[in-house]
Amino acid sequence: MEKDVKTTLKEAGFGFKKSLGQNFITDKNLLASIVREAGVEKTDTVLEIGCGAGTLTRAIAERAKKVIGFEIDRSLQPVLAQTLAGVQNAEIIFKDFLKTDLSALERETGGYSVVANLPYYVTTPLITKILEEGTLCKSLTVMVQEEVARRFCAAENTPDYGAITAIIALHASAKIIRRVPREMFTPRPNVDSAVVKFTVERGRLPVEDEGLYKKVVHAAFLSRRKTLANNLVRAFNLPRARAEELLTACGIDVLARGETLSPTVFAYLANKISAANL
Ligand code: SAM
Repeated sequence: MEKDVKTTLKEAGFGFKKSLGQNFITDKNLLASIVREAGVEKTDTVLEIGCGAGTLTRAIAERAKKVIGFEIDRSLQPVLAQTLAGVQNAEIIFKDFLKTDLSALERETGGYSVVANLPYYVTTPLITKILEEGTLCKSLTVMVQEEVARRFCAAENTPDYGAITAIIALHASAKIIRRVPREMFTPRPNVDSAVVKFTVERGRLPVEDEGLYKKVVHAAFLSRRKTLANNLVRAFNLPRARAEELLTACGIDVLARGETLSPTVFAYLANKISAANL
């Protein structure tokens, strides 16, 4: 298929757009294993964001009940028509997925999972959109830059752990399922990638107020060199003694840095701050 897709792109006069993160995958074995590792089954509806030349779309269609693909670049229409010729269970919507009304889409799809090879600039907004707005999403399996994948899956007390790790942990557990070297893409990007599977588990953290949890998490990483107490003083405009009192009440060392707290401990702290009515 590799040669065929490249030929199709060439014959269609397609020019890759770096600004849209157009690095395509054509290796059939890799595509099939991504879909398998995503856990796609015959009864599943799958959303694919960014269909490109449709190679992943086709691999998903072979295993799923239905694939609904979004592609922002209309100039891919003739290419997709050829790649997906004869595929009955794929529907392509030419639209910016970030501007799509997810609740309206969910009324049509019912439960679904997401499988996508994402452009780097869409990665965080897209994952956040689905985890925050999507109520029927069961899992997201996404190819992202390896460095970003490590951040999504990091454990506390490691350099990759940050606000995005703790915020994703609100609704999902994340695991890197495979590394993908840059040579597997056309054109070849400057970085390696990895596939991350997010298994959605709403309510997995004992959080009472999600907005406040996020505020606490962002505060904790305001300055990684400062203690958590210092960052809380700044973010919540608190007297130092009050910040230390709240930490002590949660069993957190007053000299601890934010990066040492697990998402569960952030949840306890956010609940304590909520109860304190600051
Ligand atoms: N799925 C294909 C593959 O694996 O070969 C293409 C992946 S390529 C990394 C990402 C695709 O996402 C590009 O075709 C790009 O045009 C499309 N895209 C970029 N931003 C988008 C958006 N906001 N909504 C929908 N598609 C988008």
